[in-house]
Amino acid sequence: NADTAMYMAKRRGKNNFQFFIHENENRLVRRNTLEREFKKALNKREFILNYQPKVELKTGVIIGVEALLRWDHPELGPVPPLEFIPIAEETGMIVPLGNWVLKEALRQTKAWQKAGIEMKMAVNVSALQFENHSFIDFVKEMLSNNKLSPKYLILEITESVMQDIKHSAIIIEKLNHIGVQVAIDDFGTGYSSLSVLNKLPIDFLKIDKSFVSEIFNNSNTSSIVKTMIEMGKNLNFGLIAEGIENERQAEFLIQNGCHFGQGYFYSPPLPAEEMEELIKSQLSCGKIEKKGSAAFN
Ligand code: C2E
Ligand code: MG
Ligand code: MG
Ligand code: MG
Repeated sequence: NADTAMYMAKRRGKNNFQFFIHENENRLVRRNTLEREFKKALNKREFILNYQPKVELKTGVIIGVEALLRWDHPELGPVPPLEFIPIAEETGMIVPLGNWVLKEALRQTKAWQKAGIEMKMAVNVSALQFENHSFIDFVKEMLSNNKLSPKYLILEITESVMQDIKHSAIIIEKLNHIGVQVAIDDFGTGYSSLSVLNKLPIDFLKIDKSFVSEIFNNSNTSSIVKTMIEMGKNLNFGLIAEGIENERQAEFLIQNGCHFGQGYFYSPPLPAEEMEELIKSQLSCGKIEKKGSAAFN
């Protein structure tokens, strides 16, 4: 990062300071390129959605999926969301892009239903979209265009969305009213106060993967995870742990009462066709009932 680069440059003297300047220039060039390409990409259909299963930890049964955006640029190659989402937010492009994501995710949800696969779909929503005055109407319109019951949609928002707590509360209540569920994503990494939690009708807390990955490296972290689960249960939230990469982490979470999770240990995000294969294989071995899992309802 820039601080490290600066430190190294200072330590090594003038030549390396030049290197530091180059690095910064490169970063600016890359950013400008991405911004320019990004504006074209939506029309050129360079974005696709991948889907990562959410599972019931005890059984590994798939109980829903999360839509994750992918941008594969013809020359630049795959650009990670953590690089392009901030640009989309700064330029306001996140609104049309996010609208496309919701539209596409619900189209896919309906297509799967027609093929006998009933899955809840979780969609990430950024602050700008969420604060947009027509957001609720857009959600309603997308659901009715696809003839989908709202119970199939979960919106994932981060704590940063809740900076204006009063306004957020109104929107979350409206979503609640129409029957769409809300999850707090990356829980624990933001700076919202805990008192926010009992003011909002939230359905799920997603324990951020930075906690899950540290469970066995840091005894403080394992205590925090236990406390998050305990608190979530007391407040009647569904708990979903993110970024589960091995069986030990899964075991710890199960032992401490977390019911649901996501992570490479179960499956990475997959293109729709591969996701469909995975679900069908669970259906055929009787792991999932045809009408979806009751556990998540
Ligand atoms: P997120 O919503 O918290 O999604 C979880 C991220 O963790 C995803 O990264 C996923 O691929 C990754 N992940 C899943 N399992 C594991 C694991 O076992 N280990 C590790 N290390 N990582 C795992 P991805 O797809 O790169 O997305 C990053 C972030 O970009 C998302 O975090 C979300 O905040 C944002 N994002 C992605 N798609 C959208 C979108 O359609 N709209 C908005 N507004 N944001 C999006
Ligand atoms: Mg998410
Ligand atoms: Mg998350
Ligand atoms: Mg996350």
